[in-house]
Amino acid sequence: MRIFDAHCDVLSKLLERPELDFVHGPEGLDVTLERMLSSGIGVQNFAVYLPQRWSNEFRYVLDSIDLFHERILSLPQMQFIRTKSDLARVTNGDRIGALLSLEGVDSLHGNLAYLRILYHLGVRTVGITWNRANWAADGVLEPRKGGFTAAGTDLIKECNRLGLIMDVSHLSEKGFWELAEATRKPVIASHSNASAISPRLRNLSDAQIGSIVQTGGVMGITFVPPFVSDVQPVSIDRILLHIDHVCALGGKRHIGFGSDFDGIQEWIVGLEHAGHYDKLVNLLLKHYREDDVKLFVFGNWHRFYMDHLPEE
Ligand SMILES: [Zn+2]
Repeated sequence: MRIFDAHCDVLSKLLERPELDFVHGPEGLDVTLERMLSSGIGVQNFAVYLPQRWSNEFRYVLDSIDLFHERILSLPQMQFIRTKSDLARVTNGDRIGALLSLEGVDSLHGNLAYLRILYHLGVRTVGITWNRANWAADGVLEPRKGGFTAAGTDLIKECNRLGLIMDVSHLSEKGFWELAEATRKPVIASHSNASAISPRLRNLSDAQIGSIVQTGGVMGITFVPPFVSDVQPVSIDRILLHIDHVCALGGKRHIGFGSDFDGIQEWIVGLEHAGHYDKLVNLLLKHYREDDVKLFVFGNWHRFYMDHLPEE
């Protein structure tokens, strides 16, 4: 079964450790070409995320995009997805599609020209914040729990104008509701779970999930163990609780997965890297109809991106 994963941090690891082998791994990487091929990943979204101890200089974003081309897109098995027709080509072929996203706008320093340049370079999804505050908005772990700044409001407008998809994972709750009010387009949460199942600040309340569902967004269930369950070690079946919960909120067509592989330092037992996605599929098939499993692992993200990627 084909998989669509909405978030991984391979680029961040390659930026810090260029010696890592993306094709074979396995040392140091969760997502490798071999593992994606073995588990049937059809589309992977690659996030540009600058490690916390790095300075937030825009040139490192460009370095990350260079790595994306040199180390990932240069492989004959990969195809860059910038448009609807790119995604359609991937769906009908046997190459792995690669989407490009930005996690946290810190490195843009309020300069919307940088945002437009990233759009021209093929970035299609923008996470507003990481956990802390930046010039646009507060992240979910910022103690003052603020929302958007005036410059951040301009960012929302420019994302809407360009057709850049906004990602609320890591955004403060106040920011979430301000964005819901201001945006003319649905938003996504690329890697967030349900706080009713695992009460973490990084997870989404039922009201937030309801808003994503009602406005036609998608949330990616993530494999970060503490966001899945308080009971450690976390077994793979705990993921089902989040899926059941989002389905109970009317979200059957609004769930996908966003592993956060290569952005995590601990793993769900049995789901330690991208090559284990087939185990998750087998588990899902024991509990849900095959048509629904196809929606969860591929169809919902695919439909969303087909609706929101540019034509050309
Ligand atoms: Zn993240």
